[in-house]
Amino acid sequence: MSDFEKIITFLREYDGPDVRLMEVCGTHTGAIARNGIPSMLSPHIHLISGPGCPVCVTVTAVIDRLVELAEKENTVVLTFGDLILVKGTAKSLADAKADGGHVEMVYSPLDTVRMAQQDPSKEYVFAAIGFETTTPVYAMVLQEAIEKNIHNLKLLTSLKTMPNVIRWVCENGGNIDGFIAPGHVSVITGSRAYEELSQEFQIPFVVAGFEGPQLLATIYALTGMRGHAGVRNLYREAVTPEGNPAAQEMVNRYFEPSDASWRGMGTIAGSGMTLRKEYAQYDAGSYGLDEDHMPAGCSCASVLTGKISPVQCPLFGKSCTPDNAHGACMVSTEGSCYNYFISGRKD
Ligand code: SF4
Repeated sequence: MSDFEKIITFLREYDGPDVRLMEVCGTHTGAIARNGIPSMLSPHIHLISGPGCPVCVTVTAVIDRLVELAEKENTVVLTFGDLILVKGTAKSLADAKADGGHVEMVYSPLDTVRMAQQDPSKEYVFAAIGFETTTPVYAMVLQEAIEKNIHNLKLLTSLKTMPNVIRWVCENGGNIDGFIAPGHVSVITGSRAYEELSQEFQIPFVVAGFEGPQLLATIYALTGMRGHAGVRNLYREAVTPEGNPAAQEMVNRYFEPSDASWRGMGTIAGSGMTLRKEYAQYDAGSYGLDEDHMPAGCSCASVLTGKISPVQCPLFGKSCTPDNAHGACMVSTEGSCYNYFISGRKD
């Protein structure tokens, strides 16, 4: 029997104490669904999705502010992917666009600089949503705008960082036995970013890639490490202990740590990044955007914190589907509800 076959057999036949493992990365949530991993595990190994989908954890005040900007004369909101469909208190950016608001999707971040440069009569606002992985991209946009002396491009930031939200999960009864540490985030932060948390909560972390066998090896490692502190890196082709110092330096030049508001969790100290004061002229009004209004009946807050599985939401698969999403967790391709739905996962 090969090592891989031994892992598969162990995970299928595991009969020890129940193990609850959380993936805190939306891309892992999607990869777990695509690879059918839950169906390969013993009923004693539970995978729980955490707060790692950037669109899902964005509070409605941020969406509302973007809608307000899109409806202003001579202002254009620029955004990546899924955010356009997430509802704020009354409207999504897609609704605002349908009502005549100015919203454009961008595929390359530097397109934002080109658009602002080509049309100085308008103000362009780039929705800067994401984790450690995408913050260097926004720093690069800012650097480019500054170097080209462009003043009609601003950022509306809702940037989050992982360590303190993981701490929040540990402190708020997540009952997690191990974390599948986020692969993309770890490329930037390095695997050392989890050592303090691991020691503090005596909980293991394993950095994982996104292929099925890598994820299975990660779950195998975490099951064996249950009850012990430790950080292992099973994504060595991309992640080093120290991360990417050039990207970290770029981020720290333009952004500084701040408190941040998370859907379902409230404000978590030191869990975000905002523009440094000296770059405030590039901010489109990101401060104080804390309010959150969940759609009626939506349980995204409980799903994001691992308190319930998406299938336990009474609306799941009934009135809430990807074609008619009530909450952000069903809108985003990284959302747990979306991934449970498309993969037919039932646990
Ligand atoms: Fe919200 Fe829909 Fe998920 Fe329920 S299934 S938690 S309504 S997004």
